[in-house]
Amino acid sequence: MRQLAEVAPGILMVTGQPYTTTTTVVTGHDGRCLVIDPAITVADVRGLAGELAARALRAESGWATHAHWDHVLWCEELGNPPRYAAPAAVAAAAADRPAMIEAVEREVPGHDLELFGQLQALDADHIPWHGPAAQVIVHDGHQAGHGAVFFPATGTLVAGDMCSDVEIPLLGPGPGAVGRYRDGLDRLASLDVRVVVPGHGHAGDAAEFRRRLAADLRYLDDLEAGRPSRDARITGWLRTEHERQGGTSGVESVRNG
Ligand SMILES: [Zn+2]
Repeated sequence: MRQLAEVAPGILMVTGQPYTTTTTVVTGHDGRCLVIDPAITVADVRGLAGELAARALRAESGWATHAHWDHVLWCEELGNPPRYAAPAAVAAAAADRPAMIEAVEREVPGHDLELFGQLQALDADHIPWHGPAAQVIVHDGHQAGHGAVFFPATGTLVAGDMCSDVEIPLLGPGPGAVGRYRDGLDRLASLDVRVVVPGHGHAGDAAEFRRRLAADLRYLDDLEAGRPSRDARITGWLRTEHERQGGTSGVESVRNG
């Protein structure tokens, strides 16, 4: 399996195979660390625990950016720290639990379901822990209670399922979803981001963060205007998602003409 690599001082990231899913570990004082969205296979999550042990790190707190199944995994070897999420995400994890269990068993079977999705609601603007200030940026883009984490000391944004180089904006359900997504992007755009770590994809610098914001806004503009999108991220399973969101098959029409 791949190993944690430092993307900013004290901020480590590893990328798993399915869906290019990332895990972020932030190091704090006295060997304590904050674990964000540990992913994704049983071997990967156990391997993460092994790597933390090898580095003499222990999880003091966990954070789930949102309540989709691939962001709320855990294993016994990671210990039993509080695993926080925004209140609306905790409510979603409870309401959607049967469907989330079905998805995790289908996609990456073998996880300990007793530990799966066990989150505590954090109604605060910082994650409590002994490490660099971890500001939570909660909005309802992508899913209700989506909580990105911003570390001002290093300008690092752990963006959750936003700001990806490999995924188009994936909207939440119901009317007003594009507006909620735009609100989320606005919140992130106001931050002085020097390193962006998406939940799926690859880390980027400040210029890449701005490029992704612009690409996401262009995607939303095209969607709302009913124009074909030329977004190069619309490939594979994302083509289906694009059409489900009401997008037209822009990539095809570009290729054909
Ligand atoms: Zn998601």
